[in-house]
Amino acid sequence: MIRHSITLHRGCFGGCSFCTISAHQGKFVSSRSEKSILNEIDKVTKMLDFKGYISDLGGPSANMYQMSGIDIEICKKCLRPSCIFPSICKNLNTNPEALTSIYKKANNHPKVKKAFVGSGVRYDLFINRLNESAYLKYVEELIQHHVSGRLKVAPEHTSDEVLKTMRKPSFDQFKEFKKIFERINNKYGLNQQLIPYFISSHPGCIDINMAELAIETKQLDFKLEQVQDFTPTPMTLATVMYYSGINPYTMKKIPVAKSKDEKLSQRKFFFWYKQEFKKDIVTELKKADRSDLIDRLFGKNVSEKPANIGKRNKKSRT
Ligand code: SF4
Repeated sequence: MIRHSITLHRGCFGGCSFCTISAHQGKFVSSRSEKSILNEIDKVTKMLDFKGYISDLGGPSANMYQMSGIDIEICKKCLRPSCIFPSICKNLNTNPEALTSIYKKANNHPKVKKAFVGSGVRYDLFINRLNESAYLKYVEELIQHHVSGRLKVAPEHTSDEVLKTMRKPSFDQFKEFKKIFERINNKYGLNQQLIPYFISSHPGCIDINMAELAIETKQLDFKLEQVQDFTPTPMTLATVMYYSGINPYTMKKIPVAKSKDEKLSQRKFFFWYKQEFKKDIVTELKKADRSDLIDRLFGKNVSEKPANIGKRNKKSRT
């Protein structure tokens, strides 16, 4: 996969609190020239095992190519950990035209059948700007010509509370992107899948947040596969919260799942559709007095069943 992939840029200004990319590649994106990228594509097409497919035109976030501050002097003094959370900085140029041009040129290479985007796409960079033609053209080009069947995106969670500790945008933006993805697929008669990535046990996340995640994603017809459990990594905000149990921005205590049991307990909600986890989920939500969540996840009968059985037993005894 790596052999036939092309790195377009390094660095990331997303500032997700669990990610180390900005710590070791930088918050300011360094982009290669178009010429250098096209030369490398040409070299890859000459490899003996090249079958016509570039596996990735990407970077830490696929769509930050040539994006940077408009006034660099302001950026030099800036202390914001993210240029796009909680909102996109007015000083950030997010124009995707240079990237759209590279996508088109890569696909137009005579020896390239398809050039895919395998790196994760940040939909929050364009989702509220699709009324502008440059952004719409980018999304159409991406979805129509550069998806290898499955497009990866990383909403990471559905709970606003947890997303805030992750420095990630609201899940509503993912829902909006899903609609656009489906609309473009229908428009061009494509049958491609959107693959969302999620994290369990991130500091600030509790089992109820995971139950809500299971419900939200079920309502969107997802049966999740691409998931991960939080792992603390050096030099990140999430790791500070993980070890200290405190959110340094508020200095308030924050819940942290640390033990194997706590972590497995959160993780099981991803797989609510597997029979082996259903019983545990139902028992736990009953204990938490959240039968409403059981109803929403499995249907009303599941949460009512034990109560009905009780009534039936009572009747049979009388
Ligand atoms: S000024 Fe804006 S674009 Fe520049 S580094 Fe700060 S947040 Fe990012």
